[in-house]
Amino acid sequence: MFHTSFIEIDKNAYKQNLNYLKEKFGPDTTFSSVIKGNAYGHGIEHIVSLAEENGVRHFSVFSADEALKAFESIGQGSELMIMGMIDDHEIEWAIEHDISFYVFEQERLEAAAGAARKMNKPAQVHLELETGMYRTGFNKDELKTALDFISANSDALIIEGVCTHFAGAESIGNYLRVKNQIKAFNKLMRMVEKSGVNYKKCHTACSAAAIRYPKTTLDMVRIGIAQYGLWPNRETFMHEVVERNGDGTPGEDPLKRVISWKSKVMSTKKVPANRFIGYGTSYLTNEETHIATVPVGYTHGFNRSLSNLGRVLINGKRVPVIGLVNMNMMMVEITTVEGVKKGSDVTIIGNEGGIDMSVGSFSELTNRLNYETLARLPHDIPRIIV
Ligand SMILES: *Cc1c(COP(=O)(O)O)cnc(C)c1O
Repeated sequence: MFHTSFIEIDKNAYKQNLNYLKEKFGPDTTFSSVIKGNAYGHGIEHIVSLAEENGVRHFSVFSADEALKAFESIGQGSELMIMGMIDDHEIEWAIEHDISFYVFEQERLEAAAGAARKMNKPAQVHLELETGMYRTGFNKDELKTALDFISANSDALIIEGVCTHFAGAESIGNYLRVKNQIKAFNKLMRMVEKSGVNYKKCHTACSAAAIRYPKTTLDMVRIGIAQYGLWPNRETFMHEVVERNGDGTPGEDPLKRVISWKSKVMSTKKVPANRFIGYGTSYLTNEETHIATVPVGYTHGFNRSLSNLGRVLINGKRVPVIGLVNMNMMMVEITTVEGVKKGSDVTIIGNEGGIDMSVGSFSELTNRLNYETLARLPHDIPRIIV
């Protein structure tokens, strides 16, 4: 195969995560699998097929271009929702294919009704409410106008959902803000109820909210990171797994990482003492040093800030990146690791012989969120389901 590294998607891990989460949220809450950002780097088509195998029938993306990709993958009977960007000229396409989308301003609402009229088919929209995140969403006054408009155009608009998004439910530091958002949502919902406008679902929770504020799960949860086996942050893991145990002992992590990222050693070399390795002068050998080159660099999503800092696994040992990460390769130090040769397996993210390179450790070193590390994995690295 023509590639320098590959990504493995663990089918059983995904299934386990889904079982855990679905059981937690209960049968009356629709599970929407959030697959924006190329399914958090896992690959839209792979996650869609695994999710559908496990009974998921609702998918959420950010934008119309992601919806187009997802639409090609989803099976009959699965629903697709756009939570963010859709241009006026893409609305007709969405209506044609029964794809629902967020509206958060009067202009888009009118565009949706206009497109629906033109196509003689109602648009399925989700009313996004401003509850305190201050990103997108109707505030109280705008909502009033919107509800009047919807009442007058009920033939062209199906209110598939009423929704909001929390501004950081993963951190206890945002506790009051989230609580206030919940209150604000309930208040605006009373306006919706009073208006007599019919809607199908209320949905507010992402992974962190669904886990830390169980009352936010409502009719549907929009779950991204947790289905991929990662916690929104360390704090959420502590809250869920350690604190709930009661006695301070850590419970077993019910979520299993789905992704692994692997490559192979490109070549090995013995470098004498007192030599700089790679570009420039960032790494000077103390003694004879055995190095391996790995054909993964910053073009493949291995951040250059991991120069002289990152780690990979070879032959079950953590080995340090030495020198600068290049565009297409990096050097690692293997002096004390037995038997490394050209073609030896390299694990960048994953488990080898019980030793783990987590997405989290990878992210912490680069000051990135798990989310960012995953979403930045290039689309063209082959994904293999195992
Ligand atoms: C990304 C996103 C989610 C999913 O968030 P996770 O933390 O990955 O579960 C839910 N809702 C909206 C609006 C989002 O943008």
